[in-house]
Amino acid sequence: MRQVAIYGKGGIGKSTTTQNSLAALAELGKKVMLVGCDPKSDSTRLLLGGKCQETVLNSVREVGQENVTEEDVFRIGFGGIRCVESGGPEPGVGCAGRGIITSITTLEQLGSYERELDYVFYDVLGDVVCGGFAMPIREGYAKEIYIVCSGELMALYAANNICKGVLKFANSGGVRVGGLICNSRNVDNEREMVAEFAKKLGTQMIQFIPRDNIVQRAEIKKQTVIEYDKDCSQADVYRQLARNIEDNDMFIIPKPMTMQDLEDHMMRFGFMEEYERTTSKKNLATA
Ligand code: ADP
Ligand code: MG
Repeated sequence: MRQVAIYGKGGIGKSTTTQNSLAALAELGKKVMLVGCDPKSDSTRLLLGGKCQETVLNSVREVGQENVTEEDVFRIGFGGIRCVESGGPEPGVGCAGRGIITSITTLEQLGSYERELDYVFYDVLGDVVCGGFAMPIREGYAKEIYIVCSGELMALYAANNICKGVLKFANSGGVRVGGLICNSRNVDNEREMVAEFAKKLGTQMIQFIPRDNIVQRAEIKKQTVIEYDKDCSQADVYRQLARNIEDNDMFIIPKPMTMQDLEDHMMRFGFMEEYERTTSKKNLATA
């Protein structure tokens, strides 16, 4: 069983990308469980055809952890995917990371990890530096991390920070980065910029996902693109991502960049021509 955590800045497309690639893994016949670790509890909406109302944290609150049953915790979604929402506190009170901790210990107690599963995916809100959000990697559950980003500075900044977090647990917990997923925001030279950024971190860009409004149309229908229009090109992109994850054998301890290096990197790809002109002038001057 492979345990995979998806991290990335809020709003970057983690839940959309995760659910679409899980739908594609399910098409390949894989047995998959998805654990939503965002207090928004919208990690499984597209697989369940609507937002899951019953979260693990709610059930535990209502009946007590010892009395929680599988029926309280799991919903079966598209392609037979087992869906779990951890839940979180009311906004503004309590620690959001608690939901994840409760969720994982409850799954453990129910023997969910002993089932026949090919994959467990954790969809984790990732721009918050909080112990609870590190739980899946800190405690050695997820050994494999994919970071969703785009070519925007703040997305790369968050990805770099997540790498710093992974680095902290890489030796004790054995967690590794499996790649960056570029979910395009149509930034100039984005594909090259993110591929090169991934290389600098010591990893790979495992998939480039174009921005396409079919994702929103499917979202309004509470469906993945794979369910909404299985023959469209965007569905094939998610299938390719699923195959790349399935075949991946590049698992590394990341080498985070300094802020200066990250800014230089942005300058180089954001202003390619200007950058090349000034650096070649500099080279001429020093030659
Ligand atoms: P996160 O889970 O990282 O907070 P979401 O998966 O909820 O982000 O995505 C945020 C928004 O971006 C959603 O409304 C989703 O429909 C949209 N979105 C995500 N990926 C794409 C894409 N490739 N093309 C178009 N819209 C996208
Ligand atoms: Mg999300």
